[in-house]
Amino acid sequence: MRIDLHTHSTASDGTDTPAELVRNAAAAGLDVIALTDHDTTRGYAEAIAALPGLDRDLTLVTGAELSCRLDGVGLHMLAYLFDPEEPELARERELVRDDRVPRAQGMVTKLQELGVPVTWEQVARIAGDGSIGRPHVAEALVELGVVDSVSDAFVPEWLADGGRAYVGKHELDPFEAIRLVKAAGGVTVFAHPLAVKRGQVVPESAIAELAAAGLDGIEVDHTDHDAPTRDRLRALARDLGLLATGSSDYHGSRKTVRLGEWTTDPEIYGEITRRATGAFPVPGAGGTTCP
Ligand code: AMP
Ligand code: ZN
Ligand code: FE
Ligand code: FE
Repeated sequence: MRIDLHTHSTASDGTDTPAELVRNAAAAGLDVIALTDHDTTRGYAEAIAALPGLDRDLTLVTGAELSCRLDGVGLHMLAYLFDPEEPELARERELVRDDRVPRAQGMVTKLQELGVPVTWEQVARIAGDGSIGRPHVAEALVELGVVDSVSDAFVPEWLADGGRAYVGKHELDPFEAIRLVKAAGGVTVFAHPLAVKRGQVVPESAIAELAAAGLDGIEVDHTDHDAPTRDRLRALARDLGLLATGSSDYHGSRKTVRLGEWTTDPEIYGEITRRATGAFPVPGAGGTTCP
């Protein structure tokens, strides 16, 4: 069984529509994918509607990747199988999502002040109706020939955390995120906790504190972790009693990673589904719920 628990669609900053995403996941031979758009559940309906049309059985795990910040360090919290209607968590997602618009406008203004001929119309066109983020602004910089690729825009000169054109956004306290997701029946997994290429990361002591506060797992196998980092995280998960997951963090053509490039052990996936009470995995065409 091949399980990929972290993917993005056009509901945030991926380039596949939710329907294309599930079709591509089936074509990639996956059995389970989680849809984890940034701070939004908006892609669920379209992804679920596309499942019966697939030529193979694909189970969809509903989720989101919540933007958090701890002691000035940005971090991402994956949340799985929470009740999307639960009002307190829904309100927090909305606060983050809504703040992304003036924040992206602020980054456009900063870029203009730096002499880049980017416009809000251009960035808004790229984002479409997705939860707007830095990759959309980065793509505008690619279109303008300012940088060669989206990841080349994540540097101090441009959009990296604290970079010249960076603007912060409303983010959750990760302890609060864990509490809210749990209250909504969901399960939390700290996404790419030691992805140093994305900027500053939290110390291991913070991971221990989050574990003590009810964090369920950490994402160990991820493209942005090298082999020693993955080993270190696996040992940390063992010591702290955390579930160790693996996933692609697929963003379509906006990143080079392929669907299913990293996967989660079926036993770990089973434990996630057992802990969750807010929603159930949505079985695909064959009607088999995995596991
Ligand atoms: P935002 O939530 O708007 O601050 O943007 C964060 C998004 O930017 C994440 O989804 C990442 O996928 C992407 N991102 C962060 N760092 C990098 C990087 N170094 N290269 C490419 N994409 C990045
Ligand atoms: Zn993203
Ligand atoms: Fe992330
Ligand atoms: Fe992600």
